Amino acid sequence: MHIYNTMTKKKEKFVPQVAGRVGMYACGITAYDLCHIGHARSAVVFDVIARYLEFKGNQVTFVRNFTDVDDKIINRANQENVSSKEISERYIAAFHEDMDKLNVRRADMEPKATDYIGEMIELCEKLISKGHAYATPSGDVYFRVRSFKEYGKLSGRDVNDMRSGARIQPGEEKEDPLDFALWKAAKPNEPYWECPWGKGRPGWHIECSAMSEKNLKLPLDIHGGGQDLIFPHHENEIAQSEAALGGEFARFWVHNGFVQIDSEKMSKSLGNFKTIRDILEARHPEALRFFLLSKHYRSPLDFSFATMDDAEKGLVRVYECLAEVRSALQKDFNKKMAMPEEILKEFQELKQAFLDAMDDDFNTAAALGHVFGIVRLVNRVLEDKTLRGKDGTKAFLEQVSAEVNIWSQILGVFALEPADILLELRNLNAKRMNIDVQNVEDLLAQRLEAKKNKDFAKADSIRDTLTAMHVEVRDTQNGQVWAINYTG
Ligand SMILES: [Zn+2]
Repeated sequence: MHIYNTMTKKKEKFVPQVAGRVGMYACGITAYDLCHIGHARSAVVFDVIARYLEFKGNQVTFVRNFTDVDDKIINRANQENVSSKEISERYIAAFHEDMDKLNVRRADMEPKATDYIGEMIELCEKLISKGHAYATPSGDVYFRVRSFKEYGKLSGRDVNDMRSGARIQPGEEKEDPLDFALWKAAKPNEPYWECPWGKGRPGWHIECSAMSEKNLKLPLDIHGGGQDLIFPHHENEIAQSEAALGGEFARFWVHNGFVQIDSEKMSKSLGNFKTIRDILEARHPEALRFFLLSKHYRSPLDFSFATMDDAEKGLVRVYECLAEVRSALQKDFNKKMAMPEEILKEFQELKQAFLDAMDDDFNTAAALGHVFGIVRLVNRVLEDKTLRGKDGTKAFLEQVSAEVNIWSQILGVFALEPADILLELRNLNAKRMNIDVQNVEDLLAQRLEAKKNKDFAKADSIRDTLTAMHVEVRDTQNGQVWAINYTG
């Protein structure tokens, strides 16, 4: 398999250092607020990467941290007059609740920064003793950026260009404006720990260096996060870890793209911030997960309810097919007849294409395209009267069900009971579009009655009423089936 490496700016063949074992670290959230759709994307992306590496037979150790000491947490705690711990615990719990809904598995280890204070202090001391960092009289510790010759190698920045934009803020005792804080002297009303430089607390970047070194073997096979973390956060992690410990910090740097809202950058100031909870009020969590996977992880993803509708229609199409497969498998297959070779061949090719897409830098968008290819193939088989009741069809549909299990294992979607999720999606859309489900059911009963009485004019007029309500009716062997035609 090949993975795009931000460090080398190209796709490279991925082989773990130890055959069959992968150590992966992804930067987690700063726990001071509810998670937004950008967090959801990053969490789903690295969840799928971990799942796929496992599917390929690796034993994956996935570490994702929680930042539980930070200016934003302290500010919020002071606003609410509670402890920082209370804030971070509240939002870690909210993160888990949201991610459980999105079927994001827990990481194998979810370390919290405050559990690694000793390790961070040790790392600072090591950097000071090697001349890569210095403590100031007031008790801050800074990393001496110019002492690390390779600084800028991940983000492609040149230290000399950065220099011009950087300023030393009043009160900072930096040697050079480029230097960044490893450790900060505690201000009043801040949590602090006793350390060799007085009372203080960690800067943000140092925690990931400490927690990855402690929990995984360096170099990490994969280090990941959102694109916004490339600079300065990941650049600083590299500087700290490589300067302190020598050697390479991480072999593959994997970054997911941004999420835009209605083609605009998401920001609190624009007021277009979408939390996961905002979205799940009106949408099914699997529809959101499916939407997040509908684009390649490095591409920007434009969120709007209209783009989400398109993704949801795709999800419905897959589940409708799975419902048909399930009901077809209940029927009798009492006649001998092998499935035609060309159908089996096409099925094998599409299955392989799905895996090839995942091997090509986890291209879930292309992989889902092949899922739809299989859905079309299955629908063709189910509609073919000559194949009905034949044991070859049964064997084929069983293989399809096994394939769906593989998709679920890798992508974390398509594992729900088709009838249940289709009903839930329809109810959510009815609610969103102010369609009264009971009213629809009543109209359908009247239409059935009219048809029985051969009053076709009335039956047609009821259908027109339903169409005007965005309700589409189909007459099937199992009676009237309705769906909502939503345009978004
Ligand atoms: Zn980090």
